[in-house]
Amino acid sequence: MSFREIYGSAPDGAWEAPGRVNLIGEHTDYNDGFVMPLALPHTCRVEAARRDDGVLRLHSADVPGGVYELTVDSLTPGADGGWAAYPAGVVWALREDGLPVGGADLHFTSTVPTGAGLSSSAALEVSTGLALDELYGLGLSRERLARLCQRAENDFVGMPCGIMDQMASACCTEGHVLHLDTRDLAQRQVPFDLASQGLRLLVVDTRVKHTLSDGAYAAQRRWCEKGAEILGVPALRDVPYEELEQALGRIDDPDVRRCVRHIVTENRRVEETIALLERGETRAIGPVLNAGHASLRDDFQVSCAELDAVVESANAAGAIGARMTGGGFGGSALVLVDEDAAERVTEAVLEAFRTAGFRAPRVFEAVPSAGARRV
Ligand code: ADP
Ligand code: MG
Repeated sequence: MSFREIYGSAPDGAWEAPGRVNLIGEHTDYNDGFVMPLALPHTCRVEAARRDDGVLRLHSADVPGGVYELTVDSLTPGADGGWAAYPAGVVWALREDGLPVGGADLHFTSTVPTGAGLSSSAALEVSTGLALDELYGLGLSRERLARLCQRAENDFVGMPCGIMDQMASACCTEGHVLHLDTRDLAQRQVPFDLASQGLRLLVVDTRVKHTLSDGAYAAQRRWCEKGAEILGVPALRDVPYEELEQALGRIDDPDVRRCVRHIVTENRRVEETIALLERGETRAIGPVLNAGHASLRDDFQVSCAELDAVVESANAAGAIGARMTGGGFGGSALVLVDEDAAERVTEAVLEAFRTAGFRAPRVFEAVPSAGARRV
C-alpha cells in the first residue's frame, strides 16, 4: 500500500536511514571506548507528512496490523511494546528536549533485516528523526539527532543500547568506516575502499537469536563496571593496553578479569585497524578481525555455535578474516574475502551450516554506504 492509499493524500517528502555493521570494536560502546561501524546499502525509508493537530499516525509495510493512531501529548514511555514505540519514542524524545514537534503521518518500508544485529531499530528511529527535523524545521545536528534517537530507545522503548547504532545510521558516509569515540562522540571518517583493492566484505546473517542474550548483556555490563571500579577508572576505556597485565593482576573475579581483557584488547584492535586502513593495508586487518572473534568467543563469551561456524568455515575456505559482529548469541558475522574467493567462501559457509543441521544463513555484501538523507 502506498502513502496515499493509507492516509488519503500525498506525503511532504521521503527520508532514508541505513542499517549498519560494526567492522570492529564490540561491546566497547558502554565502556566509553571505540567502535568502527559502516552503513549498509539497506535502509529504512519513511514517507512523511506534517500534521498540525497533534495526531501521530504510524504505518509499516513490514509489519501486519494497520495504522497506529496516537496523540503527541499523551505519549508515555513503556506504554506500548510493539514496533510503533520506536518512532513514537523519537517524537517523545524530541518533545522532552523542548523541541516544537507536533503530529505527523508516517509510512515506513525497510530493507534492513530485523533482529539480525544490523540495527533495523536505529534505521527506523533515525529516519523518523530526520523526517521530523525537516518537517518542523528543527535544524538538528546529526550528533544531536543520534542522541535523541538513543534516548527514545533507552527511555521510551526500554532497551539500554549504546550510541553506536544511531550515530552510524546518522553519520556514516559512502566509502568510509566511521571511527567513533563513544566518550565524546569525536568522529573520523576512515576510507574503506574495498572494491579498488579487489576485496569484498560479506555479512552472514545466521538468522538465530539465542534467548539468553538479554540477561547476558546485563551481566557483561555489570562485570565491566565492576572492573572499572576495582581499577579505579571512570570506564575500562581508561585502562591502557600497555598496563593490561598489571591491571589483571589486581582482579580476583575470573568473570571480571576476562571481560576487562576483552574490552582493553578490543580498543587496541580498533586502533590497529585504523592504522592499517589509513596506510591502505586493508588486507592486513584480517588477523585483527580473527583475533577480535577469538576474544569475543573466549574472553567475553558472547559467541555461539552458528557464529563460530561462520568464522571457522570461512577461514578454512580462504577468507582473509572473519568475526561475529553485534551483541552476539546469534545475529550476524562479517567475512573479509578476496573478490575471486567470495563465491567459494560463501559456499563453504552454507555447506558448514547444512552439515551442522543449522538453518540456512543469509549472505550478502556490505558496501560502505551513505548515512541518513532526504530522498
Ligand atoms: P536490530 O536493531 O538488530 O534489527 P532490534 O531488536 O533492536 O534488532 O530491533 C528490531 C525491532 O525494530 C523490530 O522487532 C521492530 O519492532 C522494529 N522495526 C525494525 N524495522 C522495522 C520496520 N521496517 N517496521 C516496523 N518495525 C520495525
Ligand atoms: Mg537494534
